[in-house]
Amino acid sequence: MTMIPLQLGAVLARIHAACQAAGRADDSVTLLAVSKTFPAEAVQAAFDAGQSAFGENYIQEAVQKITALRHLPIQWHCIGPVQSNKTRLVAEHFDWVHTVDRLKIAQRLSEQRPKHLPPLQVCLQVNVDGGPTKSGVAPEDALALAQAVAQLPQLQLRGLMCIPEPAANFVAECAVFKRARDLFYALNAAGLSLDTLSMGMSADLEAAIASGSSMVRVGSAIFGSRHYPA
Ligand SMILES: *Cc1c(COP(=O)(O)O)cnc(C)c1O
Repeated sequence: MTMIPLQLGAVLARIHAACQAAGRADDSVTLLAVSKTFPAEAVQAAFDAGQSAFGENYIQEAVQKITALRHLPIQWHCIGPVQSNKTRLVAEHFDWVHTVDRLKIAQRLSEQRPKHLPPLQVCLQVNVDGGPTKSGVAPEDALALAQAVAQLPQLQLRGLMCIPEPAANFVAECAVFKRARDLFYALNAAGLSLDTLSMGMSADLEAAIASGSSMVRVGSAIFGSRHYPA
């Protein structure tokens, strides 16, 4: 816990340096702290150090933390896969979801979003590197999905998210991220108004920022390495 403020500061310094290198303003990139597998106390430590947006992958685990920390003004982002039987929990507890890749899931999220809450903020997950087993909408299907999701009343479509396979080097990382960026531009040119490009993690945030990311999702560089229960 004691290392969290220091490590958070180091990540913010990396983001600053990457923005400088890319000629971008610091406030053009938001840091999402990915707290999956870490306890509410770790989230609290990062919050006390100034971090207010957190990402979680596992819905049940997340709901426990969200409930425990409900007194804090935290923005909660769902960045893990959302199955049909989990849409209600996501719609009721999160502010954002980055992993919508099917219309059916989006429709359920919209129907189940409580009316007293602001619209759920949504990114479409795109399978930019074509991995056959990976989730994410195929790039060629993204425009149709985006147009349909943009019509749903309780959702606000904000942008695209991707999780590329680890690449060999910076140039290779950028090549994949730029596919996501080009798709983002193409959707906006087609009339959508997207402002969020969610890409980059602990290992590749510099390449993501060089390639236009507006939100990096960083876990281990802030909280340490994760230990999954057996
Ligand atoms: C775990 C996770 C992250 C953070 O990964 P790190 O390598 O720990 O920074 C980011 N995005 C998604 C979707 C994740 O599942």
